Order: sequence, then structure tokens, then C-alpha cells
Amino acid sequence: MVYIVWGSAYKQRPYGTVEQGDCPTCGEQKPFRHRVIYKMRHIWYLARWVTDRRYANQCLTCGHAERVPQKVAQQGFKRPGIPVWDRWGWAGFLGAVAAFVVWVGISDAADHRRDQAMLAQPVAGDLYKLDLAKLVDNPERPEMDAIVRVEQVDAKQVIVRLPKTYYDGPRAT
Ligand SMILES: [Zn+2]
Repeated sequence: MVYIVWGSAYKQRPYGTVEQGDCPTCGEQKPFRHRVIYKMRHIWYLARWVTDRRYANQCLTCGHAERVPQKVAQQGFKRPGIPVWDRWGWAGFLGAVAAFVVWVGISDAADHRRDQAMLAQPVAGDLYKLDLAKLVDNPERPEMDAIVRVEQVDAKQVIVRLPKTYYDGPRAT
């Protein structure tokens, strides 16, 4: 069972430089700082994206904040303030999933190649599963799975030791 964990959080980040501004609450010139307030939504905390982006200019003395239109706030910035991970986390997450899928594919292919190489060059001690029913004329049963052990390999032949027992495994009827 896989639970999907998702949620959202409001965050705010300062950006730009501190500038002097007229604060109506303080009644004089005070240092102001730009802030971006945004909602970060996530799935599994990693796949992130941003909605509800707002900008404000805040008095550092009293906290009075004025809304700043997006066009004004973004002058001179591409996307002020928001950490790249909050904005592009979803892309990183998708990238990680894609990389995992590719990795599984590559290691499966490598396993397959290794199996093929081992089948092409048996060595003493190898164990193989085979169906004895296919080797004899009148098998006791239609399927007789057995493990055989490679005893000796030379240029002309592969000698295997046949087992005394076989199993018909989960396919038995
Ligand atoms: Zn103020």
C-alpha cells in the first residue's frame, strides 16, 4: 500500500536590497524590504510547485507591508525570492523517477546478458534447472523439473549429474 502524502504551506522570503521608503505607520522614512509570499504545494514533499505568488514591500521597523503589483515586483528579477527547489522540485522529482526507471531497465538488460553469457559457457559447479520430462521418451509425469549440476566441461562435452529426484513444483495438478 502506497500512501500519497501531499499538502501545501505558505512561505515568505525576502529578496532584493533594503531600500528607504515612506512608512505611513512610522510617519517617516524607514528601511523597507521586499518580500515574496507564496504557496508551496507538494506531493511527498519532493514534487513541489508554487501557486498564489504575491509581493509586498515591508517596513523593517514596524512590519507595515504594502502590496506590490507583480509587474513592478518582477522588474529586474526573473522570479524574485523563491528558492529554485520550491519552484522546480516537481521537475527534479520527475527526473529522479525517470532516472530510476532507466536504471532498472539497464540493470535488467545487464542481468539478461550475464545469463546469456553463463549459458554459453558452462563451468563445473553450475546449477541448471531443467525439465527431465523433455529428455526422456516416456516421462512419469508431463513435467519433471530438476536441478542438474555441471560436473565437468571440456571442448567436446558438458557432463552433468542428473538428480535422483525431481519436483513438479507449483505447476503440479
Ligand atoms: Zn514602519
